[in-house]
Amino acid sequence: MRLPADELEEIRKADLLRHTRPFFPRPGASVQDHAGRTLANFSSNDYLGLASSSQDLRDTMAKAARDLGPGAASSRLICGSHPAHHHVEDTLASFFSAPAALAFSSGFAAALGTLTSLLRKGDTVILDKLCHASLVDGARLSGATLRVFPHNHLDKLERLLRSSRESSLASARVLVVTEAVFSMDGDRAPLAEIVALKDRYGALLLLDEAHAFGILGHNPGRGLADLLGLSRNIDVHLGTLSKAAGVAGGFVAADRPTIDLLTNRARSFIYSTAPPPALAATAARALDIIASPDGDLRRQRLWQNLRLFADITRAPATPRTRISPRLRSRSFTRRVQLSVTRRPAP
Ligand SMILES: *Cc1c(COP(=O)(O)O)cnc(C)c1O
Repeated sequence: MRLPADELEEIRKADLLRHTRPFFPRPGASVQDHAGRTLANFSSNDYLGLASSSQDLRDTMAKAARDLGPGAASSRLICGSHPAHHHVEDTLASFFSAPAALAFSSGFAAALGTLTSLLRKGDTVILDKLCHASLVDGARLSGATLRVFPHNHLDKLERLLRSSRESSLASARVLVVTEAVFSMDGDRAPLAEIVALKDRYGALLLLDEAHAFGILGHNPGRGLADLLGLSRNIDVHLGTLSKAAGVAGGFVAADRPTIDLLTNRARSFIYSTAPPPALAATAARALDIIASPDGDLRRQRLWQNLRLFADITRAPATPRTRISPRLRSRSFTRRVQLSVTRRPAP
Protein backbone atom coordinates (compact mmCIF):
# COMPACT_ATOMS: atom_id res chain seq x y z
CA MET A 1 0.00 0.00 0.00
CA ARG A 2 1.14 3.56 -0.75
CA LEU A 3 2.69 5.23 2.27
CA PRO A 4 2.02 8.89 3.13
CA ALA A 5 5.76 9.41 3.60
CA ASP A 6 6.46 8.24 0.03
CA GLU A 7 3.86 10.61 -1.36
CA LEU A 8 5.38 13.44 0.64
CA GLU A 9 8.77 12.58 -0.82
CA GLU A 10 7.33 12.92 -4.32
CA ILE A 11 5.91 16.33 -3.43
CA ARG A 12 9.26 17.33 -1.97
CA LYS A 13 11.12 16.18 -5.09
CA ALA A 14 8.83 18.30 -7.23
CA ASP A 15 9.73 21.22 -4.94
CA LEU A 16 6.06 21.66 -4.06
CA LEU A 17 6.10 20.81 -0.38
CA ARG A 18 3.92 23.08 1.73
CA HIS A 19 3.85 23.43 5.48
CA THR A 20 2.30 25.80 7.96
CA ARG A 21 4.57 28.16 9.85
CA PRO A 22 3.50 30.43 12.69
CA PHE A 23 3.36 34.12 11.83
CA PHE A 24 2.66 36.77 14.43
CA PRO A 25 0.64 39.74 13.25
CA ARG A 26 2.33 43.07 13.94
CA PRO A 27 0.72 46.50 13.91
CA GLY A 28 -0.05 47.69 10.38
CA ALA A 29 0.78 45.49 7.43
CA SER A 30 3.66 43.66 9.07
CA VAL A 31 4.20 40.18 10.40
CA GLN A 32 6.91 38.61 12.51
CA ASP A 33 8.14 35.29 11.21
CA HIS A 34 9.34 32.26 13.17
CA ALA A 35 12.88 33.64 13.22
CA GLY A 36 11.74 36.88 14.84
CA ARG A 37 12.18 39.00 11.71
CA THR A 38 9.60 41.71 11.07
CA LEU A 39 8.45 41.58 7.47
CA ALA A 40 6.24 43.81 5.37
CA ASN A 41 3.28 41.63 4.44
CA PHE A 42 2.47 41.64 0.75
CA SER A 43 0.83 38.23 0.75
CA SER A 44 -2.42 38.61 2.65
CA ASN A 45 -5.89 39.36 1.29
CA ASP A 46 -6.50 42.02 3.94
CA TYR A 47 -6.83 44.63 1.19
CA LEU A 48 -8.44 47.29 3.38
CA GLY A 49 -6.54 46.57 6.58
CA LEU A 50 -9.79 45.66 8.33
CA ALA A 51 -8.37 42.43 9.77
CA SER A 52 -5.09 43.96 10.88
CA SER A 53 -5.86 47.53 11.83
CA SER A 54 -9.48 48.35 12.54
CA GLN A 55 -9.97 49.13 16.22
CA ASP A 56 -13.67 49.45 15.45
CA LEU A 57 -13.89 45.82 14.24
CA ARG A 58 -11.85 44.57 17.18
CA ASP A 59 -14.16 46.34 19.62
CA THR A 60 -17.22 45.09 17.74
CA MET A 61 -15.99 41.51 17.87
CA ALA A 62 -15.07 41.70 21.56
CA LYS A 63 -18.48 43.09 22.46
CA ALA A 64 -20.30 40.62 20.22
CA ALA A 65 -18.42 37.72 21.80
CA ARG A 66 -19.43 38.95 25.27
CA ASP A 67 -23.05 39.50 24.25
CA LEU A 68 -23.61 36.51 21.96
CA GLY A 69 -21.10 33.96 23.18
CA PRO A 70 -18.48 32.01 21.28
CA GLY A 71 -20.50 29.55 19.20
CA ALA A 72 -23.82 28.85 17.49
CA ALA A 73 -24.00 25.26 18.79
CA SER A 74 -26.22 24.05 15.96
CA SER A 75 -26.89 24.11 12.26
CA ARG A 76 -28.89 27.09 10.99
CA LEU A 77 -31.81 24.76 10.19
CA ILE A 78 -31.99 23.26 13.67
CA CYS A 79 -31.76 26.14 16.14
CA GLY A 80 -28.75 28.18 15.05
CA SER A 81 -30.37 30.83 12.85
CA HIS A 82 -29.57 33.86 14.96
CA PRO A 83 -30.94 37.27 13.88
CA ALA A 84 -27.29 38.35 13.37
CA HIS A 85 -27.06 35.92 10.41
CA HIS A 86 -30.28 37.25 8.92
CA HIS A 87 -29.07 40.81 9.28
CA VAL A 88 -25.81 40.09 7.42
CA GLU A 89 -27.73 38.28 4.70
CA ASP A 90 -30.15 41.17 4.23
CA THR A 91 -27.24 43.60 3.98
CA LEU A 92 -25.41 41.38 1.48
CA ALA A 93 -28.53 40.99 -0.64
CA SER A 94 -28.87 44.75 -0.89
CA PHE A 95 -25.15 45.09 -1.71
CA PHE A 96 -25.69 42.91 -4.77
CA SER A 97 -29.13 44.28 -5.70
CA ALA A 98 -30.37 40.73 -5.19
CA PRO A 99 -33.62 39.63 -3.53
CA ALA A 100 -31.91 37.30 -1.05
CA ALA A 101 -28.60 35.99 0.29
CA LEU A 102 -27.33 33.02 2.26
CA ALA A 103 -24.27 32.96 4.53
CA PHE A 104 -21.93 29.97 4.72
CA SER A 105 -19.06 29.20 7.07
CA SER A 106 -16.52 29.99 4.33
CA GLY A 107 -16.26 30.97 0.69
CA PHE A 108 -15.08 27.45 -0.04
CA ALA A 109 -18.19 25.98 1.59
CA ALA A 110 -20.38 28.45 -0.33
CA ALA A 111 -18.86 27.41 -3.66
CA LEU A 112 -19.17 23.68 -2.91
CA GLY A 113 -22.73 23.97 -1.64
CA THR A 114 -23.91 26.21 -4.47
CA LEU A 115 -22.50 24.30 -7.43
CA THR A 116 -23.64 20.93 -6.10
CA SER A 117 -27.14 22.32 -5.45
CA LEU A 118 -27.62 24.03 -8.79
CA LEU A 119 -26.16 21.29 -10.98
CA ARG A 120 -26.73 17.60 -11.52
CA LYS A 121 -25.90 14.92 -14.06
CA GLY A 122 -27.04 16.01 -17.52
CA ASP A 123 -26.28 19.70 -16.79
CA THR A 124 -23.15 21.45 -18.04
CA VAL A 125 -20.83 23.72 -16.10
CA ILE A 126 -18.39 25.88 -18.05
CA LEU A 127 -15.46 27.26 -16.05
CA ASP A 128 -12.68 29.70 -16.76
CA LYS A 129 -9.39 27.79 -16.61
CA LEU A 130 -8.12 29.97 -13.72
CA CYS A 131 -11.15 29.52 -11.47
CA HIS A 132 -10.49 28.94 -7.77
CA ALA A 133 -10.15 25.39 -6.43
CA SER A 134 -13.48 25.66 -4.58
CA LEU A 135 -15.32 26.29 -7.86
CA VAL A 136 -13.51 23.45 -9.62
CA ASP A 137 -14.26 21.06 -6.76
CA GLY A 138 -17.91 22.11 -6.59
CA ALA A 139 -18.24 21.61 -10.34
CA ARG A 140 -16.64 18.15 -10.17
CA LEU A 141 -18.71 17.06 -7.21
CA SER A 142 -21.96 18.15 -8.87
CA GLY A 143 -21.91 15.37 -11.47
CA ALA A 144 -22.53 17.88 -14.29
CA THR A 145 -20.45 17.74 -17.46
CA LEU A 146 -17.41 19.93 -16.86
CA ARG A 147 -16.05 22.15 -19.63
CA VAL A 148 -13.16 24.60 -19.30
CA PHE A 149 -12.32 27.60 -21.47
CA PRO A 150 -8.86 29.20 -21.61
CA HIS A 151 -8.63 32.17 -19.27
CA ASN A 152 -10.95 35.00 -20.41
CA HIS A 153 -11.23 33.44 -23.89
CA LEU A 154 -14.62 34.56 -25.18
CA ASP A 155 -14.55 32.70 -28.51
CA LYS A 156 -13.93 29.38 -26.82
CA LEU A 157 -16.61 30.15 -24.22
CA GLU A 158 -19.08 30.83 -27.02
CA ARG A 159 -18.21 27.56 -28.76
CA LEU A 160 -18.71 25.65 -25.50
CA LEU A 161 -22.02 27.40 -24.87
CA ARG A 162 -23.26 26.54 -28.35
CA SER A 163 -22.24 22.90 -28.17
CA SER A 164 -23.62 22.50 -24.63
CA ARG A 165 -26.96 23.90 -25.69
CA GLU A 166 -27.09 21.66 -28.76
CA SER A 167 -26.16 18.49 -26.90
CA SER A 168 -28.24 18.85 -23.72
CA LEU A 169 -31.93 18.53 -22.99
CA ALA A 170 -33.99 21.73 -22.95
CA SER A 171 -34.55 21.28 -19.22
CA ALA A 172 -30.81 20.92 -18.50
CA ARG A 173 -28.97 23.79 -16.89
CA VAL A 174 -25.90 25.34 -18.44
CA LEU A 175 -23.92 27.36 -15.89
CA VAL A 176 -20.97 29.61 -16.68
CA VAL A 177 -18.61 30.16 -13.75
CA THR A 178 -15.96 32.84 -13.54
CA GLU A 179 -14.31 35.26 -11.13
CA ALA A 180 -14.57 39.04 -11.02
CA VAL A 181 -10.90 39.66 -10.18
CA PHE A 182 -8.72 36.57 -10.54
CA SER A 183 -6.95 35.50 -7.40
CA MET A 184 -3.50 34.82 -8.83
CA ASP A 185 -3.20 37.09 -11.87
CA GLY A 186 -5.23 40.03 -10.59
CA ASP A 187 -6.94 40.64 -13.93
CA ARG A 188 -10.68 40.85 -14.46
CA ALA A 189 -13.28 38.88 -16.35
CA PRO A 190 -14.72 40.61 -19.46
CA LEU A 191 -18.03 40.65 -17.68
CA ALA A 192 -20.24 42.57 -20.11
CA GLU A 193 -19.25 40.19 -22.92
CA ILE A 194 -19.80 37.11 -20.76
CA VAL A 195 -23.23 38.37 -19.71
CA ALA A 196 -24.17 38.92 -23.37
CA LEU A 197 -23.02 35.40 -24.26
CA LYS A 198 -24.79 33.60 -21.43
CA ASP A 199 -27.99 35.48 -22.29
CA ARG A 200 -27.68 34.59 -25.98
CA TYR A 201 -27.35 30.88 -25.17
CA GLY A 202 -29.86 30.77 -22.33
CA ALA A 203 -27.25 29.90 -19.72
CA LEU A 204 -26.84 31.05 -16.12
CA LEU A 205 -23.81 32.93 -14.76
CA LEU A 206 -22.17 32.47 -11.38
CA LEU A 207 -19.67 35.21 -10.55
CA ASP A 208 -17.19 34.81 -7.70
CA GLU A 209 -16.48 38.31 -6.38
CA ALA A 210 -14.01 37.11 -3.71
CA HIS A 211 -11.24 39.55 -4.70
CA ALA A 212 -13.43 42.41 -5.92
CA PHE A 213 -15.88 42.62 -3.04
CA GLY A 214 -15.07 45.51 -0.72
CA ILE A 215 -12.78 47.09 -3.31
CA LEU A 216 -14.41 47.74 -6.67
CA GLY A 217 -17.85 49.12 -7.28
CA HIS A 218 -19.91 52.00 -8.50
CA ASN A 219 -21.40 51.90 -5.02
CA PRO A 220 -18.59 51.54 -2.50
CA GLY A 221 -17.07 48.07 -2.45
CA ARG A 222 -19.92 46.17 -4.04
CA GLY A 223 -17.82 44.40 -6.61
CA LEU A 224 -17.12 44.27 -10.33
CA ALA A 225 -20.70 43.62 -11.45
CA ASP A 226 -21.82 46.73 -9.56
CA LEU A 227 -18.96 48.77 -11.05
CA LEU A 228 -20.15 47.85 -14.54
CA GLY A 229 -23.86 48.25 -13.75
CA LEU A 230 -24.39 44.52 -14.27
CA SER A 231 -25.46 43.37 -10.81
CA ARG A 232 -28.95 42.42 -11.99
CA ASN A 233 -27.54 40.43 -14.90
CA ILE A 234 -25.64 38.04 -12.65
CA ASP A 235 -27.69 35.00 -11.69
CA VAL A 236 -25.58 33.96 -8.71
CA HIS A 237 -23.13 36.19 -6.83
CA LEU A 238 -20.60 34.41 -4.68
CA GLY A 239 -18.20 36.01 -2.23
CA THR A 240 -16.30 35.83 0.99
CA LEU A 241 -16.18 37.91 4.15
CA SER A 242 -12.61 36.73 4.78
CA LYS A 243 -10.72 38.96 2.35
CA ALA A 244 -11.38 42.70 2.12
CA ALA A 245 -14.07 42.41 4.82
CA GLY A 246 -11.39 41.12 7.19
CA VAL A 247 -13.54 38.59 9.06
CA ALA A 248 -14.58 35.08 7.89
CA GLY A 249 -17.45 33.37 6.11
CA GLY A 250 -18.79 32.95 2.60
CA PHE A 251 -22.02 34.02 0.98
CA VAL A 252 -24.27 33.69 -2.04
CA ALA A 253 -26.70 36.35 -3.27
CA ALA A 254 -29.36 35.47 -5.84
CA ASP A 255 -33.09 35.43 -6.43
CA ARG A 256 -35.36 34.03 -3.71
CA PRO A 257 -36.03 30.60 -5.29
CA THR A 258 -32.29 30.02 -5.80
CA ILE A 259 -31.53 30.92 -2.19
CA ASP A 260 -34.40 28.73 -0.98
CA LEU A 261 -33.07 25.88 -3.11
CA LEU A 262 -29.63 26.27 -1.51
CA THR A 263 -31.23 26.23 1.93
CA ASN A 264 -32.75 22.87 0.99
CA ARG A 265 -29.92 21.31 -0.98
CA ALA A 266 -26.54 22.78 -0.05
CA ARG A 267 -24.97 20.12 2.15
CA SER A 268 -22.17 22.43 3.31
CA PHE A 269 -24.91 24.68 4.69
CA ILE A 270 -27.36 22.10 6.01
CA TYR A 271 -24.92 19.76 7.72
CA SER A 272 -22.52 22.31 9.17
CA THR A 273 -22.78 24.22 12.43
CA ALA A 274 -23.72 27.85 11.86
CA PRO A 275 -20.85 30.34 12.08
CA PRO A 276 -20.74 31.97 15.53
CA PRO A 277 -23.39 34.74 15.69
CA ALA A 278 -20.66 37.02 17.09
CA LEU A 279 -18.79 36.55 13.83
CA ALA A 280 -21.91 37.48 11.87
CA ALA A 281 -22.30 40.63 13.98
CA THR A 282 -18.66 41.50 13.29
CA ALA A 283 -19.12 40.88 9.57
CA ALA A 284 -22.16 43.17 9.58
CA ARG A 285 -20.00 45.92 11.05
CA ALA A 286 -17.33 45.25 8.39
CA LEU A 287 -19.99 45.74 5.72
CA ASP A 288 -20.99 49.05 7.34
CA ILE A 289 -17.34 50.16 7.23
CA ILE A 290 -16.93 49.07 3.61
CA ALA A 291 -19.90 51.26 2.65
CA SER A 292 -18.77 54.22 4.80
CA PRO A 293 -16.37 57.17 4.33
CA ASP A 294 -13.84 55.14 6.35
CA GLY A 295 -14.13 52.47 3.64
CA ASP A 296 -13.54 55.12 0.96
CA LEU A 297 -10.40 56.28 2.77
CA ARG A 298 -9.12 52.73 3.04
CA ARG A 299 -9.68 52.18 -0.68
CA GLN A 300 -7.86 55.43 -1.48
CA ARG A 301 -4.93 54.29 0.64
CA LEU A 302 -4.94 51.00 -1.24
CA TRP A 303 -4.64 52.74 -4.63
CA GLN A 304 -1.92 55.04 -3.26
CA ASN A 305 0.03 52.07 -1.94
CA LEU A 306 -0.35 50.35 -5.25
CA ARG A 307 1.17 53.31 -7.07
CA LEU A 308 3.99 53.39 -4.52
CA PHE A 309 4.54 49.68 -5.07
CA ALA A 310 4.67 50.12 -8.85
CA ASP A 311 7.16 52.92 -8.33
CA ILE A 312 9.42 50.93 -6.01
CA THR A 313 9.44 47.78 -8.09
CA ARG A 314 9.30 49.58 -11.41
CA ALA A 315 6.61 47.04 -12.19
CA PRO A 316 4.17 48.26 -14.81
CA ALA A 317 1.54 50.30 -12.98
CA THR A 318 -1.67 48.33 -12.84
CA PRO A 319 -3.96 50.76 -11.08
CA ARG A 320 -6.97 48.52 -11.50
CA THR A 321 -5.88 45.65 -9.36
CA ARG A 322 -3.90 44.95 -6.29
CA ILE A 323 -2.84 41.44 -7.11
CA SER A 324 0.52 41.16 -8.80
CA PRO A 325 1.36 37.78 -10.35
CA ARG A 326 5.05 38.55 -9.78
CA LEU A 327 4.30 39.30 -6.16
CA ARG A 328 2.78 35.86 -5.78
CA SER A 329 6.26 34.44 -6.34
CA ARG A 330 8.15 34.10 -3.11
CA SER A 331 11.57 35.30 -4.21
CA PHE A 332 10.04 38.42 -5.69
CA THR A 333 8.14 39.10 -2.47
CA ARG A 334 11.40 38.96 -0.55
CA ARG A 335 13.08 41.44 -2.87
CA VAL A 336 10.17 43.85 -2.53
CA GLN A 337 10.12 43.52 1.22
CA LEU A 338 13.79 44.45 1.32
CA SER A 339 13.36 47.46 -0.91
CA VAL A 340 10.36 48.66 1.08
CA THR A 341 12.03 48.29 4.45
CA ARG A 342 15.17 50.07 3.16
CA ARG A 343 13.22 52.94 1.72
CA PRO A 344 13.80 56.09 3.77
CA ALA A 345 10.75 57.40 5.59
CA PRO A 346 9.07 60.22 3.63
C1 LIG B 1 -10.48 32.80 -1.19
C2 LIG B 1 -11.41 32.41 -2.25
C3 LIG B 1 -12.50 31.60 -1.99
C4 LIG B 1 -12.70 30.95 -0.64
O1 LIG B 1 -13.09 31.85 0.34
P1 LIG B 1 -12.80 31.49 1.88
O2 LIG B 1 -13.77 32.33 2.63
O3 LIG B 1 -11.38 31.87 2.14
O4 LIG B 1 -13.04 30.03 2.04
C5 LIG B 1 -13.39 31.34 -3.01
N1 LIG B 1 -13.20 31.84 -4.24
C6 LIG B 1 -12.14 32.61 -4.54
C7 LIG B 1 -11.98 33.15 -5.92
C8 LIG B 1 -11.20 32.92 -3.56
O5 LIG B 1 -10.14 33.66 -3.86
